[in-house]
Amino acid sequence: MALIKIDKESGIPLIGSVFIGVIDRGSNLIQIRPTTICNLNCIFCSTDAGSKSRFHVNQFEVDVNYLLEWIKEIVKFKGEGVEANIDSVGEAMCYKDIIKLIKGIKKLKEVKRISMQSNGMLLDKTKIKELEKAGINKINLSLHSLDENKNKILTGCNTYNTKKVIKNAELINKSKIELLLAPVWLPGFNNEDVEDIIKLSKKLNCKIGIQKYELYKYGRKVRKIKELNYWKFYRKLEEWERKFDVKLKLGPIDFKIKRTKRIPKVFELNDKVIVDIKMPGWIDGELMGVSKNRAINIVNSNLKVGQRAKVKIINAKNELYIAKTI
Ligand code: SF4
Repeated sequence: MALIKIDKESGIPLIGSVFIGVIDRGSNLIQIRPTTICNLNCIFCSTDAGSKSRFHVNQFEVDVNYLLEWIKEIVKFKGEGVEANIDSVGEAMCYKDIIKLIKGIKKLKEVKRISMQSNGMLLDKTKIKELEKAGINKINLSLHSLDENKNKILTGCNTYNTKKVIKNAELINKSKIELLLAPVWLPGFNNEDVEDIIKLSKKLNCKIGIQKYELYKYGRKVRKIKELNYWKFYRKLEEWERKFDVKLKLGPIDFKIKRTKRIPKVFELNDKVIVDIKMPGWIDGELMGVSKNRAINIVNSNLKVGQRAKVKIINAKNELYIAKTI
């Protein structure tokens, strides 16, 4: 897989693409996606990340200074009280400039909180100290079992080290960084494991946010495991709440998320747009186009990089643009 660097010279705007840059879904929380690279290959990964990816033909990494320029502009527009959540479609700790990124965000007066998702495998005492010093406020640590063999299966990684990740959870918990354990619950596959993680959260006195297993077109699916609807998911959480006397049903208020003004739309659904094709996309047959200072992912296309072409917008939600050739 080729690694494509996105910097100022690339001419790729950092709004518009779901896998790279910044996403504004109309709340005080903006998502920051600096890399598509991941060190694991979780069997349920919604983004099909990692070296065993079926769908992805390229990896992307954004230049830190370029990313900070965009974040600065976006938070200036959004105003005070922004949470910058480095969630990435890969693993945030695979981004070599993660500390520089956090330090840069910390300087922005509009940002009140910086959080990050991590699978914890690339953390250690020194890195946690560095993250703490850089000013991160919260780490959402994904851990899906306390059993070593189960974790090797779940993460698709033979070198996964459960003890190390638990140790890192303890270190984060002892630091100024808030810890949230974030297991993905695969119904019927890791029920007891999720219970073990609830017990661990009680022992550490940290928060836990159980994630629902969801199926996506380009995500990984676990054989024989069905995706539950939200009703069934919340019933199970309620059952666990009663069993363990702990709050598990979390909503926007628990994450301090509120609605705010959103970056105005540039394109509407079905708009016909002239784009400059700048580079290949993340998935085979996809291309990255640019128009009106927005990145547009063009699907199933025979167009070539360097061409100018007319496309039709087929998705325009949250300033994330997908188009097809016409
Ligand atoms: S750690 Fe996250 S991004 Fe990486 S493979 Fe697992 S679920 Fe996907």
